[in-house]
Amino acid sequence: MAIMTVIIVANAYNRQARDKIRSVGRDVTFTVQDGALEDKRLIQYLHGVEYTSGVKIFIVNESEVIFPDYEDLTDEYVERLLNQAKKKLNKANQIEGVIYQISDDTLSYAAKLRYGGGSYLIVNYSLQLVKNATNAMHLYLLLTCIIALLIAFIISYFLSLKLSVPINNISVMANELAKGNYDVQFNSVQYTEVAQLSDTLNYVTSEIKKSDEFQKQLLSNVSHDLKTPLTMIKAYASMIQEISGDDPVKREKHLQVIIEEADRLTGLVNDVLNVSKITADNHLNKKVFNLTDFLYEIINKFNYLQETQGYNLMVDIHPNLYTCADQEKIGQVIYNLISNAVNYTGEDKTIYVSLYDDPAENRIKFLVRDTGRGIAKEDIENIWNRFYRIKENHPRPVKGTGLGLSIVNIILKNHCFDFGVNSEVNKGSTFWVDFPAVPAIPDVIE
Ligand code: ADP
Repeated sequence: MAIMTVIIVANAYNRQARDKIRSVGRDVTFTVQDGALEDKRLIQYLHGVEYTSGVKIFIVNESEVIFPDYEDLTDEYVERLLNQAKKKLNKANQIEGVIYQISDDTLSYAAKLRYGGGSYLIVNYSLQLVKNATNAMHLYLLLTCIIALLIAFIISYFLSLKLSVPINNISVMANELAKGNYDVQFNSVQYTEVAQLSDTLNYVTSEIKKSDEFQKQLLSNVSHDLKTPLTMIKAYASMIQEISGDDPVKREKHLQVIIEEADRLTGLVNDVLNVSKITADNHLNKKVFNLTDFLYEIINKFNYLQETQGYNLMVDIHPNLYTCADQEKIGQVIYNLISNAVNYTGEDKTIYVSLYDDPAENRIKFLVRDTGRGIAKEDIENIWNRFYRIKENHPRPVKGTGLGLSIVNIILKNHCFDFGVNSEVNKGSTFWVDFPAVPAIPDVIE
């Protein structure tokens, strides 16, 4: 663009110089041709033109230089001027004057004159000024380009520095993270993409940290929970071997403890397996099924408690209620909630299970109520966390692991079902889940 400007300016200068030399040439031709001027006045006129127009005028014929009258011109120079003029005039076959360039920096005009018995007018105009101006412009252009490039380089250097520093920091932090330091913090910066990357990495870090903490917690809880029943089993087995082997009453009591502790171990192992399974895989295998029938199936598993330990399961279950969910996982939810009610209900050993539909909301309400000690307000939000156990409760037949409600929590959240607990201390708790109601014969199976 800038080069174009230089070319355009140079061309304009050239055109102007040509116009000027042509007009000077014609004026001089006209005046000299006219012959009206006395020689002295002619010379004055020609000097005046030279002075005002910045040109050099020569009038020569074959034998002498008519003008300029005083200059020390070599014959060789004059001859060259004359020959060039003649050549140009012949070539162009011009009666009028002709313009040509005799060198890089000189523009000439030549015309034939009748003056002095046939002579030639040669007007030279120096293009040195144009050349100098063009050269200066080239130089300025070059300088401007260099300066612009320099500025662009400096700006891009600082910009890249500004961009690369946070990215470098992120990569250093990511390395730290890879080494197992989960306390790293990816700092947000003003660039949206880098800030988003930092946020994502912070999220990933917090998730890895949680999972790491969970693993540690799981390991310490599980090892602690395994140790107690194993110690008990070993102690009671030794007691049977050494002391109560021959005493059927004592032996029976000790064996019962061993059975209970073994059950406790089984429950713990099952819960740990379940919680790791649903944490690792949150895929849901949804289908439409008869929730009423399914609930009865689960309640039947608790019959032995009714028969052997005097528990009452009071049910109010409406027939043929269908929902769409992952049946196996929902089975775990229902089982855990009823187990907890059995574990924590009051002296009356009664548990109330209801299932009914709420057509207004297109929901099926599932409720498990017990008459136990209830849950204090400050504990309610924690009971859904892994390994959270309220100290004062007295677990009964099915021993707790602190994982049952966290399994319920994960499964129901994966399903996006509403659920919760209403509890009053010393009166009991009601755990509830809202299932979506679907038609008995499903049109679409998710
Ligand atoms: P656990 O296996 O110990 O029962 P859960 O995750 O099922 O573990 O429950 C967490 C804690 O919540 C329990 O330890 C208990 O203190 C409390 N909890 C659960 N269900 C009830 C209930 N129906 N009544 C009173 N407390 C309960």
